[in-house]
Amino acid sequence: MINQKQESPIFLEPVMKQMVWGGNRLREVFGYTIPGEDTGECWAVSAHPNGDCVIKNGVYKGKKLSEVWEQNRNLFGGVQGDRFPLLAKIIDAKDDLSIQVHPDDAYALVHENGSFGKTECWYVLDAPVGAKIVIGHSAQSKKELSDMIMEEKWDQLLTSMEVKKGDFIQIDPGTVHAITAGILILEIQQNSDVTYRLYDYDRLSDGAKRPLHIEKSLDVIQIPAKDTKELIRHCADLEADRQNLLVESPYYKVWKCNVENSLEIKPEEPFYIVNVVEGDGLFNQEIIKKGDHFIIPANYETIKFVGKMELILSTVSEKK
Ligand code: ZN
Repeated sequence: MINQKQESPIFLEPVMKQMVWGGNRLREVFGYTIPGEDTGECWAVSAHPNGDCVIKNGVYKGKKLSEVWEQNRNLFGGVQGDRFPLLAKIIDAKDDLSIQVHPDDAYALVHENGSFGKTECWYVLDAPVGAKIVIGHSAQSKKELSDMIMEEKWDQLLTSMEVKKGDFIQIDPGTVHAITAGILILEIQQNSDVTYRLYDYDRLSDGAKRPLHIEKSLDVIQIPAKDTKELIRHCADLEADRQNLLVESPYYKVWKCNVENSLEIKPEEPFYIVNVVEGDGLFNQEIIKKGDHFIIPANYETIKFVGKMELILSTVSEKK
């Protein structure tokens, strides 16, 4: 067997996004340089044209993730596809986000210029006591849904669920959802930026309401909604020094690792995305700390984390 040189981990420069509902915790909690006190999103691992991360280190330094995906598919275990499949971002909601829903691949292909649909999941990094997310709705038929939307019976239509730090929530396409003021999450999602805004609390942004997408929302909202209890997992106290699988969806697998001493993984996936959400330590010989985001390319024989830190690992799923 030819002994191939092991590639370095690929560290990424996050892309910051200002949002009407954003805050400053991406600086206060994660230490990033932010463009303003209304910074809502940190696109930490992204090859999307609306925020394509630049590589910070090694031979690919200065290149965009989309270019590396295009030109060096061997790093990603030869995974097929014209676009990098995933996007990891941190979201800081200083204010409530609009109530929204995402299409699936089939709908987005036709109605959004060939974009991917959007399946996403959230790991709650912080939440005020008693915080609630909007998730699901009470309508039992399309007519009921449409009537309640047209009559603006939002209190009756929208359902919510309490969340706390360490909760994990899966959001399938067609699920009505929104995070609310004070919540800080890490989101792992399909590489897509397609969002249909259903309701925006009648807020004004620069003197005008932001556009809604009622027709498309009605097309894609799942009826009836899934039982919200099926969508949440409480994972604040997972077993330390092991790889805890949070979800295996058709698009991604996500794990939480609470490293107390050390964790060794025999790689079984084409590549791993690593988000360091707490603490610091070592990845093999490399120093890593809270706020670092990197990709472990293919052809690692062992992955070893040493230190005291919390990590979210993810990879593309082949379970379609
Ligand atoms: Zn969403």
